[in-house]
Amino acid sequence: MKNVLSFDVEDYFQVTGMEPIVSRDDWEIYPSRVEQNTQKVLEILGRHNVRTTFFILGWTAKRHKQLIKQIANSGHEIACHGYNHRLVYDMTNDEFISDIKRAINLLEDITGQKIYGFRAPSFSLDADDIEKFEMMAELGLKYDSSLFPVRHFRYGKTGQIPLVPFDIKKGDRVVIKEFPITVVNFLGKRIPAGGGGYFRLYPNFFIRHNFKKVNAEGRPVIIYLHPWELDPDQPRIKGIGLGNAFRHYLNLSKTQSRLEMILQEFEFESFVGLINNMKFDKC
Ligand SMILES: [Zn+2]
Repeated sequence: MKNVLSFDVEDYFQVTGMEPIVSRDDWEIYPSRVEQNTQKVLEILGRHNVRTTFFILGWTAKRHKQLIKQIANSGHEIACHGYNHRLVYDMTNDEFISDIKRAINLLEDITGQKIYGFRAPSFSLDADDIEKFEMMAELGLKYDSSLFPVRHFRYGKTGQIPLVPFDIKKGDRVVIKEFPITVVNFLGKRIPAGGGGYFRLYPNFFIRHNFKKVNAEGRPVIIYLHPWELDPDQPRIKGIGLGNAFRHYLNLSKTQSRLEMILQEFEFESFVGLINNMKFDKC
């Protein structure tokens, strides 16, 4: 079964947990490591001959155009992670549409390819916010992967959404496809199957166990990582609080070997690749 491994491409100082310390106006002054970290990801994926999806932050794309071209030329799908990494539920509809439109236009200019997918920074989209999904569709997007159906103070509200890819509808009309991040039932609770901080937190056997379980249920595993998660030597930002520091710095040195493990044992595909193999309309 084909699964989807996706990368949210941003620098280590742009994550939401750093916001109280690192203001957007100061992004330029932090030493960027996104280039070298993404090169590392591309090298690993190339060695395993795997194609995947990269959700790129517009701000980053503007400053690293060659890198974005290189990702696209390596056969990976380029998708949108917004322009300024603002939480979607904190933006008005006008702010949201101008933020993602700016990013989509830039990514399409750089790659010469159509952009089909969106992921909200920190999964900050509410499942019942149909207007936001309609705006994505109006901009030509075909799918979203921003819903993460677990309880987390930063993620958007997801209610009782399906745990498999599904159509977001308004009445009977399909607005856009949704690929929720994969969760599994564990001791009566929903937990992430692995991805991001959970990928670094769980032991290898548990990640493998969850993936096998999800595939045995007939579901593709949909997980995410960031290039900075493969960078144990990144500068440490002080004062972000214990919780944020734990989520950001835990086991950074283990990400690469775990990534190699899942690439060896499971099959992966980009979102567009998966859509084109499903019963959905093709991109
Ligand atoms: Zn992000």
